[in-house]
Amino acid sequence: APALEITELRKTYDNGVEALKSVSLSVNPGDFFALLGPNGAGKSTLIGVVSSLVNASAGSVKVFGVDIAKERSAAMRLLGLVPQEINFNMFETPFDILVNYAGFYGMPRAQALVRAEEELKAAQLWGKARVMSRTLSGGMKRRLMIARAMMTKPRLLILDEPTAGVDIEIRRGMWKTLKEVNAAGTTVILTTHYLEEAESLCRNLAIIDRGQIIEQGPMKMLLSKL
Ligand code: ADP
Ligand code: ADP
Repeated sequence: APALEITELRKTYDNGVEALKSVSLSVNPGDFFALLGPNGAGKSTLIGVVSSLVNASAGSVKVFGVDIAKERSAAMRLLGLVPQEINFNMFETPFDILVNYAGFYGMPRAQALVRAEEELKAAQLWGKARVMSRTLSGGMKRRLMIARAMMTKPRLLILDEPTAGVDIEIRRGMWKTLKEVNAAGTTVILTTHYLEEAESLCRNLAIIDRGQIIEQGPMKMLLSKL
């Protein structure tokens, strides 16, 4: 089954805004996929629906063949989400943030302690494991968001504009982390409004504008059209 299969998805907000107008797309297992589009295109709405934070108006979403409406918790176990806003507790240490997150997802504590060390090392944050998160640099905070989502070893990692508003050095550090996550076998989907970001990271992409997918295919094919 595809890692993500979206079929004729629609979302109309209560105020009448049609944020998604019959969006269909498919992402293969192992892919590094970008959803590229300008502000207001519907990227956050799409991610909200896939991660069960926003109710769809119509259509279906399957994660590795599991329908999110029919088997919500099974589907959510396959998925890790990195939201746009940094939302961990700044007064906890990175180590505690990861261990507590895993605990929330039902992981036994002994295992969580081991996983937290692995993920902090992978995100090059092991040296900062015991400091207060408030003192981390912007780039470290962003990498901690990724490490946290990876704690449960999701098969699909979804990131909503992971590098919005961060400078190029921080962006490059995050790209490195994400490439390693993908190389280790995790399917990665990110939204972005930077073509450069999609180009440096992704094999396949979809371009979304005003709630509709206007192009979809391999990065190389789409670049040749621009
Ligand atoms: P993004 O940075 O993804 O474009 P926005 O800045 O448009 O997101 O929106 C920030 C937050 O406000 C989101 O939680 C979004 O759901 C909400 N929001 C955006 N537009 C509206 C709107 N027209 N009415 C109500 N809430 C909105
Ligand atoms: P993007 O992430 O690509 O910037 P969004 O999904 O945030 O796009 O927004 C798509 C459209 O839906 C925009 O017109 C936005 O104002 C609107 N929108 C987003 N969230 C809400 C909301 N909670 N209520 C009403 N309108 C919203």
